Amino acid sequence: MAPISHGPLPACVEGFTRLQQPVTQIIDGSTMTGAADTQAAIEQPREDGLFSSNATTEDGAAEPDLAEAIASADPEAGLDAGPDNEAPEQEKALPVSAFAAFGLRQELLDGLAAIGFEEPSPIQKAAIPELMLGRDLVGQAQTGTGKTAAFGLPLLQRLDPGQRTPQVLVLTPTRELAMQVAEAFNSYAACMKGVKVLPIYGGADFRDQIQHLRRGVQIVVGTPGRVMDHMRQGTLDLSGLRSLVLDEADEMLRMGFIDDVKWVLEQLPAERQVVLFSATMPSEIRRISQNHLKDPAEVTIRQKAADGRRIRQRHLVVNGPQKLEALERVLEAEGSEGVIIFARTKAITLTVAESLEQHGYDVAVLNGDVPQTQRERTIERLRDGRVNVLVATDVAARGLDVDRIGLVINYDIPFDGEAYVHRIGRTGRAGRSGEAILFLTPRERRFLGGLERAVNQPIEVMEVPGNASINQHRLDRLRQKLTTTLQQPVCNPEERALLAEILQRVAQEQSCSPDQLALAALELGLGGKPLLLQGEERWGQSRSGTPTRDRDRDRERGGERRPFNDRHQERSEDGPEDNMERFRIEVGWRDRVKPGNIVGAIANESGLAGRSIGKIRIFDAHSTVDLPKGMPDDVFADLRRLRVMNKELQISRLGS
Ligand code: AMP
Repeated sequence: MAPISHGPLPACVEGFTRLQQPVTQIIDGSTMTGAADTQAAIEQPREDGLFSSNATTEDGAAEPDLAEAIASADPEAGLDAGPDNEAPEQEKALPVSAFAAFGLRQELLDGLAAIGFEEPSPIQKAAIPELMLGRDLVGQAQTGTGKTAAFGLPLLQRLDPGQRTPQVLVLTPTRELAMQVAEAFNSYAACMKGVKVLPIYGGADFRDQIQHLRRGVQIVVGTPGRVMDHMRQGTLDLSGLRSLVLDEADEMLRMGFIDDVKWVLEQLPAERQVVLFSATMPSEIRRISQNHLKDPAEVTIRQKAADGRRIRQRHLVVNGPQKLEALERVLEAEGSEGVIIFARTKAITLTVAESLEQHGYDVAVLNGDVPQTQRERTIERLRDGRVNVLVATDVAARGLDVDRIGLVINYDIPFDGEAYVHRIGRTGRAGRSGEAILFLTPRERRFLGGLERAVNQPIEVMEVPGNASINQHRLDRLRQKLTTTLQQPVCNPEERALLAEILQRVAQEQSCSPDQLALAALELGLGGKPLLLQGEERWGQSRSGTPTRDRDRDRERGGERRPFNDRHQERSEDGPEDNMERFRIEVGWRDRVKPGNIVGAIANESGLAGRSIGKIRIFDAHSTVDLPKGMPDDVFADLRRLRVMNKELQISRLGS
């Protein structure tokens, strides 16, 4: 393979080059996540499983236009931020992306603008210049720090769309991460012509993947097992590979993929760039870095400690698609005088604000698109109470100082501990106390510890408010409003006299009591909206007690699964549970297999959720595993060929 050519670097990158000498960079503060949900809503993989940028197909026809879909999510391209964002034309200067300073090509900058990335995160600032030079890199950073763009952007910058064989291979521990990374690449490259991204993982149609690989893709993102299968079969040609990324390397180690990763590394061309990202650096991962990376740049993201004691801080865990509903519930049950909701991108601020507006809140938006004069007017309205809820991005809310903010909601987890401290500091001002609530998706739960260290105190857990608590709030608020209206009437004396006359007349006509009349008037005041939330209670029940959840949480926090012997003792009977079937797999102690290897491999290559995998027992030369009944034939066939510890599972039904 030809050595990687850097090509002429833009002037600003050459400038960077001279400055960027240090091998190791340690950066204080960084965890971020959150925009993923919105992005996922914007970027749907094509049905055929291939991701494609704004490219033309073989026959020259335009691809279904993802760029258009992304562009339509751009605040500038349509969504209306409401009166607060209406500014005179001359005030609307196009924001210059801070990403331009890296010397990224214009198509990439356009792609970033479309998904609302305004400022690079710390890991991006540190890693992008190094990777653009073609250096190897070891990054100690978690998901949520913006690491995908940290490697995705420079690798796309160096990509040759004219070369139709894979130039970038990203190995991920799970199929979900593979999908996510492929989607991210595709969104960054939405405005680049001819870039094809293919996620490959087990459980998806093998032949389909072969066809896409034959037609030509430049970026492959996959789980180790399926990538190895393609390499062995000769359907994944890596002779032209320029860069390999090992994403979440410690997870790959934990899930038993590390030998596979080493095998892949050994098959690659000698001249290649290797990028390794890992949240932790166990010795095994260090060794890989020493043996397979050349003089790598090192970037470590660290948390900073700070103080946030005056502010009561809580967090709740909610799945991405339910965040908006959870937000409405939190506002109903916890809403205070002034609320600031922090969101990751411009697009999310608009989505959130629109939804709240529909639910009757007085909302304003502050994001990078709001010009300075407008910003000041908005803050003034927040200060005097004409606006009660502000939805903002970090950059836009910088330095915001309004005393009456009683609640800060981190709708998206912040970039880092420092950003968290800054955000919650918008409440608890002028000697008052304040509340802060952090939304975490289940995957983001592992960043909690970092934020707790940043504020030097625990961030308590809370549940999404359930119907009972919301209803109690509604009743309290109604009583409060009624009392206030009695004490400070809204209408002038003339109007009140007219209202009294109506009451008298209706009472006479209907011969009803004052109580009945007052009740009818209150009902009228509800404006047709139901007083109480009814129906299925989907929130508010403590789900933490259920064994599967606990198990998931342990795994998400990187904890070990309980010894399988313990789990075995949970039930005295020896057979599988009613809804499970027992299978035999041809790998055992002598292959040094651990339960984690089996769970990881089966979950990732078959598409089964980890929690649906039941009891595992490991014997000398084989193991048994309980899986949900009714496994489809194609999944069964996939599992038969699946390799764990370099041995085919040869799965079979026990007793068959
Ligand atoms: P990652 O750590 O790569 O999984 O990124 C976490 C989340 O942050 C994803 O939803 C990204 O889309 C988002 N993100 C990454 N970089 C930026 C940025 N510079 N500005 C705004 N959002 C970002």
